[in-house]
Amino acid sequence: MSEAFEKIPKERHISLCPCKSTKSYQDCCLRFHQNKALPETAEKLMRSRYCAFFFRLPDYLVETTHPDSRSPGLRRDLEETIHHTDWKFLTIVSTSKGQKEDKRGKVEFIGDYFWDGEVQQLREHSRFRRFKGNWKYLDDKG
Ligand SMILES: [Zn+2]
Repeated sequence: MSEAFEKIPKERHISLCPCKSTKSYQDCCLRFHQNKALPETAEKLMRSRYCAFFFRLPDYLVETTHPDSRSPGLRRDLEETIHHTDWKFLTIVSTSKGQKEDKRGKVEFIGDYFWDGEVQQLREHSRFRRFKGNWKYLDDKG
């Protein structure tokens, strides 16, 4: 996995997952970030991506972006965003499809964060689509 991932101290593994699932990180998004498991639902992928922003894991964010949405500058854009933002809270507002039997899904969420120290809020309807069987983030046009 990425160097950034290796920097997450082991002690974090037993603390609550930043995605607000109320599970520990090791029982929630860690296995996805370590590539040991794949999110079974669009919502789990969405949570793990939020968590990857929180822990600053651009490799995971690129990998979980649908190939159709991977622009040439994607990684640089993600690194830029990660550099400026501190994510504080995630609220899942609603989900549509995105289950084990689905090929598409939508997740509406609110993300609270600081951008260079300024309080900001992102409300997004994310669209997810499967690629080779695995959930990927498509775009924010849901
Ligand atoms: Zn999590």
